[in-house]
Amino acid sequence: MTPKSGENLRASAIKEITMSPIRKFEPKKSADGRLLSVSEYFGELTFGLGHMREKLSREIYNQILQTLEKGSKLSDEASNAIAQVVKDWAVSHGATHFCHWFQPMTGLTAEKHDSFVSIHDSKYSEISVIEKFSGGQLIQGEPDASSFPSGGMRSTFEARGYTAWDPGSPLFIIEGTAGKTLCIPSVFMGYHGQALDLKTPLLRSQEALSKKAVEFLKLVGDVDVKRVVPTLGAEQEYFLIDKRLACLRPDIIMSGRTVVGAGPPRGQQLEDHYFGSIPTRVKAFMNEAEQDLYRLGVPVKTRHNEVAPSQFELAPIFEDANISADHNSMIMESLRRVANRHGYTCLLHEKPFAGLNGSGKHCNWSMRNDKGENLLEPGKTPHQNIRFLAILSIVLKGVYNHAATLRASIASPGNDHRLGANEAPPAIISVFLGSLLSDILESIENGVAASATEAELIELNVGSIPNVSKDYTDRNRTSPFAFTGNKFEFRAVGSTTNISVPVAFLNAAVTDAFDEGIERLTVLLRDKSNRDEAIMEMVKEFVIESKAVRFEGDNYSDQWKQEAEARGLPILASTAEALKVYKDKDAMSHMTRLSILSPDEIESRYNVGVERYNKSILIEMQTLLEITNTHVMPAVEAQLALCQSTLDEALTDNYKSKQKERVSEMETVAVGIMDGLSDLTAALEKSYSLENEEEQMAFLKNTVLPVSDSLRSCVDRAEIIVDDSLWVLPKYREMLFTNDL
Ligand code: ADP
Ligand code: MG
Repeated sequence: MTPKSGENLRASAIKEITMSPIRKFEPKKSADGRLLSVSEYFGELTFGLGHMREKLSREIYNQILQTLEKGSKLSDEASNAIAQVVKDWAVSHGATHFCHWFQPMTGLTAEKHDSFVSIHDSKYSEISVIEKFSGGQLIQGEPDASSFPSGGMRSTFEARGYTAWDPGSPLFIIEGTAGKTLCIPSVFMGYHGQALDLKTPLLRSQEALSKKAVEFLKLVGDVDVKRVVPTLGAEQEYFLIDKRLACLRPDIIMSGRTVVGAGPPRGQQLEDHYFGSIPTRVKAFMNEAEQDLYRLGVPVKTRHNEVAPSQFELAPIFEDANISADHNSMIMESLRRVANRHGYTCLLHEKPFAGLNGSGKHCNWSMRNDKGENLLEPGKTPHQNIRFLAILSIVLKGVYNHAATLRASIASPGNDHRLGANEAPPAIISVFLGSLLSDILESIENGVAASATEAELIELNVGSIPNVSKDYTDRNRTSPFAFTGNKFEFRAVGSTTNISVPVAFLNAAVTDAFDEGIERLTVLLRDKSNRDEAIMEMVKEFVIESKAVRFEGDNYSDQWKQEAEARGLPILASTAEALKVYKDKDAMSHMTRLSILSPDEIESRYNVGVERYNKSILIEMQTLLEITNTHVMPAVEAQLALCQSTLDEALTDNYKSKQKERVSEMETVAVGIMDGLSDLTAALEKSYSLENEEEQMAFLKNTVLPVSDSLRSCVDRAEIIVDDSLWVLPKYREMLFTNDL
């Protein structure tokens, strides 16, 4: 429907939304029309180890396992054989192109497509087309890397970047309207092997963690352990907004969030959205997104309404961290793709709407050994429980020692709006354990259990820790890092974050504590005759040393801020402060020591962080200026003219004086906006003149953002007093509540 010139586009969009039918969900059917169960199509678009075992010779399959376990190089013969079966599989599924799918430092995923088609010049000079894909093409790609952020690590004359297949993550086919593409999960690096992506450090951190954890567990008595793998399940929160409304908001298009918008009278105060019944149109979207993800082998499990109106959550079943991190990127892409088909825009921004809850991505994290045992699961035997306490104390020590880097790993301009607002944990990293575990740790700290023998431990209830399941741990929603029965939940992570980053830092923090644990325990084992006694002594030391990071109270309270400061915990309220941790050599030394990030790579990540912060804020500010000039001021001026003409025609003095007040209020708002515009313009001009990016970041945060806040408050005031038909920007009410209509 094309609106007549002069017609309010917002009103037309709303009319269209109310009249459009809901897109139905088409469940997958077999060729003969039978409804398929999920198990019949789960993973049909992925090609993983199972396929390789089935389709390749035992010798080649074993080579792949060696590569996965020991990082050994695949022979040309093996890679060509794999490429052949991968290509046959992909082509039989209708794929025409392939791409190395990787995660550059933009935080998004990137893909460069290549066709399988090769021109075959036969000896009779006839040209024919064949589908071809070599081992080389599978294993390595060479995208022109000069347009990806490198944080200054790669000068332009050395623009080559390489993508390399990560055989630990399954290949998959993405179906778009424009065809099907085989995606090869890859890492991305520079000519000298420097990581240019977010996944490489995660892989390195997993290697480091496994090595140190195995060494530690051997000391604890698990002599046959071979591998330890971090496990991860990331709950993804998001908003769904009708696309027709989202398209009328330059701020949503440009930055994924609203930079102006008056809060509606009904926000989330009725608490009627959380876990409420899911609107039909949203349900159709969710069913399709889930089907999409099942086909891609992503094990999504739960879905529900979140706290804010039009906010939802999707949670997968946990997997090994590397795969789970890829799957989270695929979840974000799928949500966007499927939303589009349903006439929605999916907002993954941490704070799309002021005054309402933002979106996070709770990262549930634990570790498993090669027998599949969860190392954070209190076990049935005294040995398993001592192991549990040892691992718990290691995690506490790691988080305590590296709280600042963990905070830095989740820093982004979007998360600045969310952390410390009244729905998300503050920017102070602390750990919540629940009363049961806290009591146990206290008795250990007081020496009650520390010197106990195995038999005594059982008596003290330490040898047989009751099932610390979710029923025992009272949920503390305010904690940024909470123990929830058999895993930790890192809740401070923002919804857009590529989780490879925080998870790599968490792995690194824990690996470093394992390293310290190995050192301490080796000495203690020499001194003490009983192994359990030695372990419990180490647990006691770590529990005492990390005590400051444990907090069971309300993380939202102001009191906590003061207390955290007194405890000496890092308080890094904003991205501008948090990013400085990257420059702190001491804080980052473990990353280098454990070969997870080199000093160059750390510096480049800092540079990219600052650059991205500045660019994001500048985009938002330019959009705010434009919206105010082109959408808001014309409406305010029209309203003023309207008020003025009514005043001119007023008959009675009483009416005249009241109408004068109205005009004067409108003028006050108009002046506020005009002042805001000139202040913001001046502040932005100043910020452009600052060549040093760090100075620019500080100036944006300390000067530009406060100026923009006062401009916004005037614009939001205007929104609720200007004639509705003059207001062209879709309002919060319409964007947030039309899903339920
Ligand atoms: P809760 O009800 O406490 O939120 P769930 O069992 O539903 O707990 O799990 C929430 C998330 O935590 C899910 O994504 C789940 O897969 C993940 N999770 C569960 N166990 C682990 C684990 N051992 N390691 C990592 N993530 C896990
Ligand atoms: Mg949640």
